[in-house]
Amino acid sequence: GTPAPLYSRVMLKISGEALMGDQGFGLNPPTVERIARQVQEIHAMGVEVCMVIGGGNIFRGLQGSAQGMERTTADYMGMLATVMNALAMQSALEALGINTRVISAIPMDQVCEPYIRRRAVRHLEKKRVCIFAAGTGNPYFTTDTAATLRANEMKCQAIFKGTQVDGVYDSDPKSNPDAKRYDTVTYDEVLAKNLKVMDASAIALARDNRLPIIVFSLAEPGGLAGVLSGQGKFTMVG
Ligand code: UDP
Repeated sequence: GTPAPLYSRVMLKISGEALMGDQGFGLNPPTVERIARQVQEIHAMGVEVCMVIGGGNIFRGLQGSAQGMERTTADYMGMLATVMNALAMQSALEALGINTRVISAIPMDQVCEPYIRRRAVRHLEKKRVCIFAAGTGNPYFTTDTAATLRANEMKCQAIFKGTQVDGVYDSDPKSNPDAKRYDTVTYDEVLAKNLKVMDASAIALARDNRLPIIVFSLAEPGGLAGVLSGQGKFTMVG
């Protein structure tokens, strides 16, 4: 039967790379559409959905600065990349009949809405999917931190971090066949063992506000809807 969701308002964080498909760079519209369909499923369950999408498929500030660019300029380019990804996701979701808003930390009124917290909350109450773009609006941060920040502000009950693997492992499961997957792990263990979940500032921000992080695979058979109902494989950081 139809699974029942365990949460009524969630943040979905996906990296920019999740949108590029096999092409190795940029946006692959069929891949964006596949993710949009997973969002459609949880939206149909009545879940209020926030999204943050990274920008790594287009530009990363650290890469630019390693090649000689001024760091903050490179970071602003990375933030702009996340706006492009957010617009692509908006287009895919609206093609499925879902109302959305792209809400940018850096105002660009002709393109999307500026971030106004109370307005964003209202959109969620009206069941519009809110796609938060331009990260935190500040250089030296990541979209993982932006997702955690907005999840706290929107009072989301959990962050769902979609990745290539079905949870958090004690070593890289792609290079170590004996890598062990955690069902649950604490924030402090993630920080102490430097486990690959999110960067340390995002983990600390989640820990200090007791916000669970659920790491799952975007290719999980039951999909996001299953994971949101506690089915399938995932790791709960809490
Ligand atoms: N970025 C930033 N401030 C933020 C969020 C992102 O400066 O609050 C920049 C940073 O340069 C980063 C880029 O945007 O490299 C893309 O974001 P991220 O690397 O988090 O994307 P992902 O790895 O999730 O695709």
